[in-house]
Amino acid sequence: QTVFLTGITGFIAQNIAKQLLDSKKFKVIGTARSEEKAKHVTEYFKNDDLTIVSVKELGDPTAFDEHFIKFGKDIDFIIHTASPFAAVAANDDIDEFFIKPAVNGATGIFKAAVKYAPNLKHFVITASFASMIDVTKDKDTTHVFNENSWNPVSHDVALSNDVMGYFYSKTLAEKAVWDLQKELDAKFNITAINPGLVLGPQVIDNAASASSLNFSCEFINNLLKTKPGEEVATDFDGLAVDVRDVARAHIEPLLNSEKFKDQRLILNTARFGNQLFLDILNSIPEVKGKIAVGHPGTEDNLESTRAVIDNKKTNELLGYNLISLKQSVEDTVNQIIKVKETK
Ligand code: NDP
Repeated sequence: QTVFLTGITGFIAQNIAKQLLDSKKFKVIGTARSEEKAKHVTEYFKNDDLTIVSVKELGDPTAFDEHFIKFGKDIDFIIHTASPFAAVAANDDIDEFFIKPAVNGATGIFKAAVKYAPNLKHFVITASFASMIDVTKDKDTTHVFNENSWNPVSHDVALSNDVMGYFYSKTLAEKAVWDLQKELDAKFNITAINPGLVLGPQVIDNAASASSLNFSCEFINNLLKTKPGEEVATDFDGLAVDVRDVARAHIEPLLNSEKFKDQRLILNTARFGNQLFLDILNSIPEVKGKIAVGHPGTEDNLESTRAVIDNKKTNELLGYNLISLKQSVEDTVNQIIKVKETK
């Protein structure tokens, strides 16, 4: 069975590709915009079940068409992960950088699927908890977020900063998929995967040697670059989950399509904040004493001071225990240390 996996040069998609290929149940057609990065992935996997094709720019609404015209009949599953998740450069605008590629990417591949992939059974989109949160309610302990929640962020707010721009891009892209399902009377099943901040090891060790990692793991890498005594900002927190669990959640719907039909899955192992990260980092012998300590223990009760995350439905559907925040952070760091040592 063949999976069309977008953004295979990305952190999450590489973990998905690894699990798909390791299972030996799937052939994978991955998309990449950079030939150099694609070569790196091909060389790492060295697997005849993997083909990588070029999709240059998600903002182009017909970006996927040529590949669907060619491979459409062979595609059983789509996993659409590709979407911008990075800091906006000074000369980029939020509409162009986040919103257009996120929305056109999702709608473009969905329309191509309806038109050219008659045997498609399941479409999985990497959404985000960003499309569920209402930031004005996150500190209200009586508020509950669940699998039906939608982020009410407006376009005006989206244009005010990167974070809101990203949140809006994810909300609009996911909504577009559910709307198109009805509008185009799609015959395949759909699942949205809505993770919090995704941490954990990169599939390709070399990726962990870069001076900066993918956007989410860079939260940890940045703290490793702090100095003892340095003050660290603690004004931002959210949900977190390990990439290996996120990858698995993308694959479960392919194995059990009816069970995951029309579901949105909130993936959350625990709330994180920079202080909690520092506390975990300072418990790692190789790190202790080399970085900031902040104010240990002050984020131990984040959960009880924030809105409730009710994702019982997700956890029951998935049926596996999620890797703990501590383990996920430790595995992220240990890989960074290992790569630095072997350089
Ligand atoms: P990465 O940045 O590692 O991967 C993103 C992928 O999308 C890369 O393959 C990237 O290509 C591709 N891409 C981005 N923008 C474009 C564009 N304009 N045109 C073509 N390709 C593009 O991020 P993650 O793996 O972390 O994220 C994957 C998905 O998961 C995204 O949809 C993200 O929103 C979502 N997500 C991530 C979370 C996290 O904490 N990491 C949390 C919740 C959701 P290239 O390698 O060339 O840059």
